[in-house]
Amino acid sequence: RAKQNGRNAVQFYAPHMNAHALDRLALEGALRGALRDQQFELHFQPQVDLHSGRVVGTEALIRWRHPLLGTVRPDRFIALAEETGLIVPIGAWALRSACSQNRDWQRAGLGQLRVAVNLSARQFSEPDLVQTVRQVLDDTGLAPDSLEIELTESMMMADVESAIETMRCLKAMGVKLSIDDFGTGYSSLAYLKRFPVDVLKIDRSFVRDIVVSRDGAAMVDAIVSLAHSLRMQVIAEGVETIEQLDYLRGCGCDEVQGHIFARPQPVEAVEALLRQGRVAPVHA
Ligand code: C2E
Ligand code: MG
Ligand code: MG
Ligand code: MG
Repeated sequence: RAKQNGRNAVQFYAPHMNAHALDRLALEGALRGALRDQQFELHFQPQVDLHSGRVVGTEALIRWRHPLLGTVRPDRFIALAEETGLIVPIGAWALRSACSQNRDWQRAGLGQLRVAVNLSARQFSEPDLVQTVRQVLDDTGLAPDSLEIELTESMMMADVESAIETMRCLKAMGVKLSIDDFGTGYSSLAYLKRFPVDVLKIDRSFVRDIVVSRDGAAMVDAIVSLAHSLRMQVIAEGVETIEQLDYLRGCGCDEVQGHIFARPQPVEAVEALLRQGRVAPVHA
C-alpha cells in the first residue's frame, strides 16, 4: 500500500519537474562522466606581439568532446560546472594540461612561450589554489613566469582583501596575472591600482566598437593608456578585422588575440603555427 502511494507520488510529482531541471541533472551527470572518461580537451589560441609580430604565447580554452554532441564550447557548460563545484577538478585538469603542453613546446625549441589559463570564481576562492598552482608547476617543470592566470573583475571584487592576498601569493611565486574581459565587470579604478596584475585584456565588445563609433575607439585608447600608466601590458581579444588591428597598433596596444590571426585550435594545428613563429593577418 505504502509502496503504491510512493509510486503514485512519483507519478504525481514528475510533471512538476520542469524540463530545465531535468536538463541540468542530465548535464551534471554528463559532466561527471566527461571528467572520468577524459572527454575534455584544450584548444590554444595564439597571442601575437604587435611590436615584433611574433607569437609570444597562447590562451588555453577548454572544449568538451562529447561522443554524441561533438565539440561543446565552454559557454554551454562552465556555468553549471561552477554551480556544482565540478569546475574545481575540471579547472585543475585544464591548468595541469596547459602547463604540461606549454613545457613540451618550450622543450621542443618553440621559444619562451607563455600560456594563459582561465580561472573560475570557484577555483580562485579555493583555499588551496596557491598550493595547487605550485604543485602543477613543480610537477610539470614549467617556469612560473611562463604561466599567466586570467582572472575577472567580479572574482576580484567578491572579496577584495582576500583576492589581493591570493594574487600576492601567486605573484610571489612568479606567476603572471591578467584581468580578462576588462571593462565589462564592476571593478572600480580605485581598486585597479591595488591589484597586482601584469596584463589587462581588453574585452571583445570594446574591440568590436573601434570602427563602430568614435566613442568606441576612444574607450580603447583610454584603456591602453590606463594600463600603461599603471605599468601593465595590454592585450586586445576578439580582433577580427584589419581596421581593428591597425587601430590597436596605432594606439600602442602590446598584443592581440583573435580570428584575424588564428582561431583557438587543437594542439597539432597550433603547433604548426608556433613553428613558423609568426602569423599573418587573415584578410576577411
Ligand atoms: P575568454 O577567456 O574571454 O576567451 C575568449 C573567447 O573568445 C573564447 O571563446 C575564444 O574562442 C573567443 N574568441 C577568440 N578570438 C575571437 C574572435 O576574433 N572573434 C570572436 N567572436 N571570438 C573570439 P570560448 O573558447 O568559447 O570560451 C568562452 C569562455 O569560456 C572564455 O572566455 C572563458 O571565460 C571560459 N573558459 C574557457 N576555457 C576555460 C577554462 O579552462 N576554465 C574556465 N574556468 N573557463 C574557461
Ligand atoms: Mg580568457
Ligand atoms: Mg574569461
Ligand atoms: Mg575574455
